Amino acid sequence: MYPDTQLLIDGRWADAADARHLDVRNPATGQVIGKVAHAGIADLDRALAAAERGFAEWSARSAFDRAAILRQAAALLRERSGDVARLMTLEQGKPLAEARMEIGRGAEVIDWLAGEAQRVYDRVIPARAPNVTQTAVKQPVGPVAGFAPWNFPVNQIVRKMAGALAAGCSIIVKGAEETPASGAALVACFVDAGVPAGAIALVFGTPAEISEHLIASPVIRKVSFTGSTVVGREIAALAARQLKIVTLELGGHAPVLVFADCDVAKAAREIALIKYRNAGQTCLSPTRILVERSAYPAFVEAFVAAARPIRLGDGLDPDTQMGPMANPRRVAAMQRLVDDARARGATVALGGDAPDRPGYFYNPTVLTDVPGDALAMNEEPFGPLALIHPFDGLEDAIAEANRLPYGLSTYVFTGSSLTARACSRRIESGMVAVNGFGLGHPETPFGGMKDSGQGQEGGSEAIEAFLLTRFVTVTDL
Ligand code: NAD
Repeated sequence: MYPDTQLLIDGRWADAADARHLDVRNPATGQVIGKVAHAGIADLDRALAAAERGFAEWSARSAFDRAAILRQAAALLRERSGDVARLMTLEQGKPLAEARMEIGRGAEVIDWLAGEAQRVYDRVIPARAPNVTQTAVKQPVGPVAGFAPWNFPVNQIVRKMAGALAAGCSIIVKGAEETPASGAALVACFVDAGVPAGAIALVFGTPAEISEHLIASPVIRKVSFTGSTVVGREIAALAARQLKIVTLELGGHAPVLVFADCDVAKAAREIALIKYRNAGQTCLSPTRILVERSAYPAFVEAFVAAARPIRLGDGLDPDTQMGPMANPRRVAAMQRLVDDARARGATVALGGDAPDRPGYFYNPTVLTDVPGDALAMNEEPFGPLALIHPFDGLEDAIAEANRLPYGLSTYVFTGSSLTARACSRRIESGMVAVNGFGLGHPETPFGGMKDSGQGQEGGSEAIEAFLLTRFVTVTDL
């Protein structure tokens, strides 16, 4: 069973005032499975008024109380993870095991931020006279508008919602219209844990209408967006007009540098495993796989051997290793990139087409010798395309890694600590992982540079994003 999803405004789940709704489809079949309420301006205005009241109430609670409520929300999410994972697979397509992992990670994010709520320290600054006390004071920035996409329906909301609540902010989240039910099930955990009415809201509708209305409102003091670079620029421009603080988690086009001095076959297997997770619809997905020329043939062979047996299917089937893409737009985007690369001389070593079955599936694809001017080497594929390309020496590899305006994540495989240090220092990337994929833990910084965004959604920086610093000086008479 898949429930219809309502809006959460001022502590009540309800349909839109004008009863509008959108269909939700199962990407594994293309069939309509339910509905999501479509908010109008009247609904957004009620959410804004409630967020203002919710902020006053929630920010007045002690950090100890806020943390206790957040921990209870994490416990509820763990308790309900089986049901939430099923909803996520039905609406987003990822295999059930990946959905469960995402929910487990979501609960860890809440726990981490609950702890951070209790570690927000003011700072006493030594004064110039003994009767003066100078303090840098942290306080919540105010009501937040958050915009979350469909690729991780729980994890994208949880980072924004738990971060805002931990800091003492209220938050209105626009969830993804394609994947509303699992996000709503997450938000229900916060409500049931005792977050007061008004401190959280969840809305869906026409994305541009919602972002324009919420960001223009004087109630909103901070904007947090995850999605494409193109839309991120629009959001940043709207926020700049109102001088609002923005966090942007945008696209990536992650380079992977494989040097001949690593265990090449092992690296190939590990990269292939990560590449096709969530059907490649991950901003951290390893995409431009650059391999030192002497290791290139062995790498390609091992990579294709690891990718070929990946079983495509409905995420509810326990044998499925890769589900469908989230929507038909992504399938069309994959075909456009593959056709273009092929026309420019790339070799399709695996896949390169959609299987003949219902739903929005695309085969795990490996393209080799992809020329630098192929669209796929420049646009974020956001899908199951691995682009393998040879390089000659460290300088060549670093130049290719830094060629694009993206700078989110980079992976390096090498047995040399000198090479590892040179890459981690010189590659323009918000996150670098050497000989592994350990990015995105709740306790570690998460964010990009250049066109991949600004600000952080992980580590201690995650709560900082929702805090202001004020300075207070008191002179004893
Ligand atoms: P899109 O840019 O239309 O939408 C991406 C997300 O942004 C969606 O959730 C959408 O609801 C939201 N959005 C779109 N316009 C908006 C607006 N004006 N105001 C507020 N929110 C808005 O693209 P898409 O076809 O859904 O996804 C494809 C691209 O999105 C990918 O190529 C990828 O670059 C990017 N994306 C990135 C992430 C990420 O984790 N950084 C997640 C999902 C999608």
